[in-house]
Amino acid sequence: MAAFSDPAFDDHERVTFCRDAATGLKAIIAIHSTALGPAAGGCRLWNYASDDAALHDVLRLSQGMSYKNAMAGLKFGGGKAVIMKTPDFSGSDALYEKFGDFVQQLNGSYVTAEDVGMSVRIMETIARRTRFVSGLPPKAGHAGGDPSPKTAFGIFKGIEAAVRFKLGRESLKGLTVAVQGVGNVGYYLCQYLSQAGAKLTVADIDPARVKKAGDEFGAKAAGLDDILTQKVDVVAPCALGAILTSESIPKLRTSIVAGGANNQLATSADGKRLADAGILYAPDYVINGGGIINVACEYYGGVDDAEVMNQVAAIGPRLTGIFAEAKKSGEPTNVIADRMARDIISRATAKQAGKRS
Ligand code: NAD
Repeated sequence: MAAFSDPAFDDHERVTFCRDAATGLKAIIAIHSTALGPAAGGCRLWNYASDDAALHDVLRLSQGMSYKNAMAGLKFGGGKAVIMKTPDFSGSDALYEKFGDFVQQLNGSYVTAEDVGMSVRIMETIARRTRFVSGLPPKAGHAGGDPSPKTAFGIFKGIEAAVRFKLGRESLKGLTVAVQGVGNVGYYLCQYLSQAGAKLTVADIDPARVKKAGDEFGAKAAGLDDILTQKVDVVAPCALGAILTSESIPKLRTSIVAGGANNQLATSADGKRLADAGILYAPDYVINGGGIINVACEYYGGVDDAEVMNQVAAIGPRLTGIFAEAKKSGEPTNVIADRMARDIISRATAKQAGKRS
């Protein structure tokens, strides 16, 4: 495994490899940047094809968290962890406690929370060993808990903004949306969209989740290979990343791509492919920032749920600003967002360097 030469290595500050043979824990914690504050980002539990695949994923995801936290205006840098589902993975409380020990050893430079495969219960287990954890059950009157509903609310506000900008429509009534993945985020997104009168088509590798969306929201079911190519107003990817590629983009039949999955573009060039195809792309780390806003409010405290919702709702106007800038400059939306995020981080890095000298 070669971290420095991995294509996703972006001058990451620190990469920690964590192993505990007794519990079967094999994890990687990547800290991309602490310029804006402690590196915060969820922990993903996944069955990776190789150690290299896990490293590549955590490097990509942690860089994305730096950009996401910067664009959400948070006092958080970017980090991420992955726990590998290896053959000796136990899934025991002891494994998650051991992971908590590793987080604690980083002494606050990394703050963990939920990502794919995690739950509030697992966060509580990790919290037995470290205080640098968020996404815990909320205390009365305070922000906290599962970030997924807040992530979904931010995506909903982002879809509203994209629909207004691209289609000139104020209401989502009758809007057609294809949602790929109806897990934590996708389910709550369907709930918001259905309440607003949108017509849903969904797909998931878990048929029970598709059935639930059908029963509760009247969502139509599509095949796993057909969901992205539905003829709809909006495609909302809410499963895994790298689904927008040179192969998939020409087959899209939508005006807007706006969903919660991290790292939707396989490469930055795919943002240009979307723009050239006349498809408005809502940069993933901007539209899906609701969960980390909730995490930040919980971690720093002093904020109630209503204020979290206010901060998450600001994702709509933030995206409108990016869409308008892209239209003005002729650049793809992902390029505009990347530049804005890098500028925020560079200014913070320069300020830090100024303080040291
Ligand atoms: P989840 O595991 O609860 O849901 C993902 C769903 O996608 C599952 O139901 C899974 O069966 C389904 N799925 C996986 N592969 C699929 C495929 N090929 N086709 C269709 N369905 C497929 O995870 P989540 O928390 O809902 O997160 C979804 C995405 O949003 C991830 O990319 C995650 O990184 C991102 N995200 C989540 C949050 C959050 O608050 N949970 C915040 C920001 C970003």
